[in-house]
Amino acid sequence: MKKMTFQFCGKSGLQLPSISLGLWHNFGSVDVYENSRKMILYAFDRGITHFDLANNYGPESGSAEETFGRVLHNDLAGYRDQMIISTKAGYYMWPGPYGDGGSRKYLLASLDQSLQRMNLNYVDIFYHHRPDPDTPIEESMLALDQAVKQGKTLYVGLSSYTSEQTKQAMRIMQELRTPCIIHQVKYNMFDRDIERDLLNTLKEFGLGCIVFSPLAQGLLTEKYLTDIPPDSRAAKPTGFLNKDAITDQRISQIKELNSIAQSRNQSLAQLAVAWVLRHKSVTSALIGASSVEQIDDNLKVLENSELSAEELKQIDNVLQ
Ligand code: NDP
Repeated sequence: MKKMTFQFCGKSGLQLPSISLGLWHNFGSVDVYENSRKMILYAFDRGITHFDLANNYGPESGSAEETFGRVLHNDLAGYRDQMIISTKAGYYMWPGPYGDGGSRKYLLASLDQSLQRMNLNYVDIFYHHRPDPDTPIEESMLALDQAVKQGKTLYVGLSSYTSEQTKQAMRIMQELRTPCIIHQVKYNMFDRDIERDLLNTLKEFGLGCIVFSPLAQGLLTEKYLTDIPPDSRAAKPTGFLNKDAITDQRISQIKELNSIAQSRNQSLAQLAVAWVLRHKSVTSALIGASSVEQIDDNLKVLENSELSAEELKQIDNVLQ
């Protein structure tokens, strides 16, 4: 298998692997620990140096961080300096007014809890998970800045901020000289919103871009071509992929995209990852997985990631 490639994250000196692994699904307390452990070790062995978490990943909330911490300490002790570990706060985490949103109170308390669950002194990247319209952006940015000053994170990032919110946030970060280096946002063939203006804004501020759900939670694979398999995210009661998203129109698009992938001798998942990585502003594709085999399949994109203008046109035609 081809070796992992690394890109600088925006204008920072931090390099991220082209493919990173996210622990949103399949690493919680409801999942089989041994499978989660195998995926983390398999990924790391193959050059996936970046693992992405959040306070609320599980279920239950917090348990993905516990799983990750357990693997880190039992199997990967001694490798901390070869890894980039991120976590986030921004969604509901605990009852009352201080367990959700973007206040200084919530963000700093949540980071402490995340560090405790992973048994770490610091993370590499701490994100505000989503914009909070009820908290001044300045307060959230000052909280991220404080987390850096406390030595609890090396870098900070924004997630799912609009282009305008990103500009506001980055003006504050530049003034504070806070190492805010990355934006995490959804991007895949079925969701191209960031192409409108966010990508330009990221370039303007020298921010890296890590894209989540590059496989549209599994839709951009061969998984749903004939039915909804019982072990799939769409079938699981704890999954976030709604069965309603799997319409006849989607399936016919997926079939056409699958033919394009086949003509390139690759899987649809590989084509979907190659497609997000084609964009120079995209630093890393943040995939999820439920098995080692899926990670293996997705990594093979590294052997065939160039897309011709003709192929891109064919894809655009399917998506129109
Ligand atoms: P993907 O779009 O990569 O979907 C992953 C799912 O696709 C897997 O769980 C699996 O589903 C299926 N899959 C993966 N590879 C294959 C394959 N080769 N063949 C068949 N099926 C495959 O990403 P996610 O939606 O999981 O998001 C990735 C990460 O992004 C998250 O873990 C999280 O870290 C981050 N994220 C961040 C958000 C934010 O707000 N900042 C929001 C959402 C995600 P199945 O379980 O059915 O097998």
